[in-house]
This record gives sequence, structure tokens and C-alpha cells, in this order.
Amino acid sequence: TAASDGPAVSEALRTLRRVFGYESFRDGQQEIIEHVVAGGDALVLMPTGGGKSLCYQIPSLVRKGTGVVISPLIALMQDQVDALRALGVQAGFLNSTQDLDERRVVEAQFLAGELDLLYLAPERLRVPATVQLLDRGTVSLFAIDEAHCVAQWGHDFRPDYLTLSGLHERWPEVPRIALTATATPATRDEIAARLDLRAGPDSNTRHFVASFDRPNIQYRIEPKSDAKKQLLRLLTTEHAGDAGIVYCLSRNSVDKTAEFLTSNGIEAVPYHAGLDAATRAANQSRFLREDGLVVVATIAFGMGIDKPDVRFVAHLDLPKSVEGYYQETGRAGRDGLPSTAWLAYGLQDVVNLRKMIEGSEGDDAHRRRMSLHLDAMLALCEAATCRRVRLLDYFGQGSEPCGNCDTCLSPPESWDGTVAAQKVLSTVVRLDRERRQKFGAGHVIDILLGKKNAKVIQFDHDTLSVFGIGTDLREAEWRGVVRQLLAQGLMAVESNYGALVLTDTSAEVLRGQREVMMRREPERAKATAAKGAK
Ligand code: ADP
Ligand code: ZN
Repeated sequence: TAASDGPAVSEALRTLRRVFGYESFRDGQQEIIEHVVAGGDALVLMPTGGGKSLCYQIPSLVRKGTGVVISPLIALMQDQVDALRALGVQAGFLNSTQDLDERRVVEAQFLAGELDLLYLAPERLRVPATVQLLDRGTVSLFAIDEAHCVAQWGHDFRPDYLTLSGLHERWPEVPRIALTATATPATRDEIAARLDLRAGPDSNTRHFVASFDRPNIQYRIEPKSDAKKQLLRLLTTEHAGDAGIVYCLSRNSVDKTAEFLTSNGIEAVPYHAGLDAATRAANQSRFLREDGLVVVATIAFGMGIDKPDVRFVAHLDLPKSVEGYYQETGRAGRDGLPSTAWLAYGLQDVVNLRKMIEGSEGDDAHRRRMSLHLDAMLALCEAATCRRVRLLDYFGQGSEPCGNCDTCLSPPESWDGTVAAQKVLSTVVRLDRERRQKFGAGHVIDILLGKKNAKVIQFDHDTLSVFGIGTDLREAEWRGVVRQLLAQGLMAVESNYGALVLTDTSAEVLRGQREVMMRREPERAKATAAKGAK
């Protein structure tokens, strides 16, 4: 199917122009569409905003029958279908938000062959009636959106997606196209295995992997001191009047941050699952329609939102995985213009996320995976080399230093932190002997700095040999040391109390068998911000 000007291609191109009103295909689209139109199976990895939807919408229009799109984003189905109908495409959806009558109408349309596209929530396929329905109509293709949800190794596994493994056996003649915007090589392999989409010489399956680079996004990660103030500085100095998204971990901090921004003269609205549906919908549609509105949100916000001129995405809390970080920051700059991905993170983030993982539902294997996802995120934060190189490397793609991220613009100096690491670790060792009590990073740093505060005195910690041995560094620098020890796995934080504990590799540092390089932690963040300003 390499013909570049066969009838199928011209029909695809004609459809692009006639139905969608676009002149030409974007990179990668034509090849994918041709392949699926010709009946091939495909696994498509393309970043957010790359134009995945057309890759199954056009084949659905060109091929005989209805394209069945499986998507977990139930809340978006109505909007997606409305948008398609506005273009004259016959589209419908089936999910749990509908009543029986609404469902019947859609089913009848499907059976009558009146639908080009049918959006389906994955759990529908567990219902035998849905399977029978699909049998009685004509399915032109299956599109599996957000395909990473089928991978347990991925960051967003959804058990309902496992049902999709059976699609191929049940309808072997129907082509399938699976699409995702985030997948590491391991996740990609798992998707291919679970969905029976392995590429190979004798296979009718092809993998299409677009570049994950988003060159117009400037990645910046800075240590958290006063997160709200840092955010305000970013918004007033570089992004005044710009539309953007601020992500927070909790609903409470979403509300507080939105209030804080509003009281500082920045138009901001909150968005999280605790708000009633009407408020959520109103805030979302304001964000889409107005210029320069800031949405402060939990990660519940943004899935499938297509606003081209989001100028910045700010994270006030550490994302749980690199995949999540990439997906969230990817909502910036879909129009290709310069945009900022900014993240402030601190020690407390690590403690909070470890707690969350420990308390999460699921088995040990699940917790271990979450923990590895967090480790990778921490390593990205503490990277002393180009953020983009690290990010793309994580997704299995090589690249050159970008010259446009914080570490490229103002390379962090590295220093030999072996002695500092030994000071922290020996303090932890001594505290660990007092098994009754657990101590966090703040207390360890107070001891190193020789602070005689109430807690130090209460536990007689001013008598420890390590008391006051760390006055050569400032408090912020010690926090940096602790963070980097955690990121490098040379120390761990116990989930329950946030207590610092040793790991298997700590001893090597304590015995002087291992050198620890660290990145310098001055108020460099400001310098970076100034340099990165437009
Ligand atoms: P994704 O699902 O990969 O995040 P979408 O399919 O939502 O991306 O596409 C992102 C935007 O790009 C949409 O507004 C879409 O209409 C637009 N788009 C996609 N393909 C083209 C094209 N060939 N020409 C112009 N615009 C396109
Ligand atoms: Zn860079």
C-alpha cells in the first residue's frame, strides 16, 4: 500500500479538504490513514496536538461501515460528537451517561448504517448486548484511543481496557488502530502485546512513531520555596495576560491557589472533581472561549481539551510520573508558538507522593510500579543536563541539547557533594537508633545547622556528634542535598511519617566508596527565569 496517489489517497485527501476544511496532511497522517484505509492494523504514537483524531476519522469516512472509537473520556464524547456533526459527519456515542431511549436511537442509527463514527466507552464492550449490536451492523474499523490505558506498566492503566484484547479474535477482518500520546518503549511493547498489534515482516500491523519533541515548549523545573509567590512571579513577569493551566495535587490547594491569583489581579478559575458539574462546565468553557484566563486545576482537567493558545502549564506539585508530566505540559503551545512548562518541586512533594503510593489501592506490584514512575520523575527534576534530552530519552528517542530549557540556558554547576551526603546520612543513622521516634528532613537539617529549637532540645539532639556540623551550607542547600539523595536512591523517605531512612546503597556513601555529584542549589531559579523571558 505504498502508492502515494492511488484512489484511496485522493479520497482521503478529498475528505480532509471537503469535510474538515484542511488543505494538506500533517507529518505522518497520510501514511497512517492510507494504511488503515487499506485494511491494515496500526499502533500510533503521536504527541498531544499532533492530529491523531483524523487518523481514524478519515478512514472511518472512507471505508464502508461505521468506525467504532473506544475512548475512556466519557465526559468528552458529547462534545466530540457535536463537533463532528457540525462538520456534517454522522456521529453518535454510547456510554453510561445516557438513558435507554437515547441509547436506542443511536443503536438504530448504527444498525441502519447511518453512522460514520460511533464513540464507545470501553466498559460497554463487556456487555454482551453491545457485542451483539456490533455483530449486526457493519464496523469499518476499531480505533482505540488512549491506548496506553491497556498497559499495566503505564501510568494510567484501566482494567476495562483489557476487554479490548478480544477485539481481534471476535472481529478478525476489522482493522484496528490504537493511538496514544504517551508511551515509553516498555509501555509500547505491552500495548502491542495486549492488543495483538505486533509489527513484523509477516504482519499486517505497522507502528507509526512520531517525534515526541515539542520544540516550542520551554521546560523549566525549579526548587520550591514559596510556590505561590514563585508562580505569581512567573505569571506577572513572563505571562501577563496569557492563558494557562496551573496544576495542583489537591482540591484544597486548587481552591487556595485560584483565590490567591485572583486576589493578586490575575483572572483565574478553579477546576476539580469536587466542584459541581455546572461550575466545572462553566469554568471549562470560559477557558476555551476567553483570552488570557488561567485555570487552576487537578489533573482531572485537560484530557482532550483542544485550546491551541495555552501559553504556559505550571505545576505547583510534582507529577506522579514522567508520562503524566509530559501529557500535562503537552497541553501548552499546540499552536506551535513559544510556551512555558514550569514546575516547582520540593521535598514535601516526595514525602506526599510516597505516602500516596503507600496508601494506594492495588497490590505490591502496582505500588512498586508507581514508585518507579516517581523515581523517574525525580531523576528528571534533578537532571543536570538538557531536560528535553532526558524527556525524549525516556520515551526512547534520541536528541541533541535543545538550548531552550533551564539547564541548557543556565547549566547548573555540579559539585562534589560526597561529604555533605555523608553528613546527612550519618545524622540519619544516629536518629535511626532512636527507634521510638521518626524524624523528617526538617529535623535532620536543623541538627546539621546546629539549631537549638524545642524539638532538638526535647530529644537531646544538641548532644549528638553531628549537631552543628553542617553550617557550611545554607538551609536551602541542605534541602537540595536531601532531595538529590532521594532522587539518586541513596536515601529514602518512609511513607508513613516522612522519616528519612537509609537504602542499600547508603552504606557505600558512608564508607567513602562512592562519590556523590550534585547540582548546585543557589537562587539560580531567578536567573533562569530572567534569561528565559521573552
Ligand atoms: P491529538 O488527538 O493528537 O491530540 P487532535 O486530533 O485533537 O490531536 O488535533 C489537534 C488539532 O490539530 C485539532 O484542532 C485538529 O483539527 C488540528 N489538525 C489535525 N490535523 C490537521 C491538518 N492536517 N491540518 C490542519 N489542522 C489539523
Ligand atoms: Zn535543553
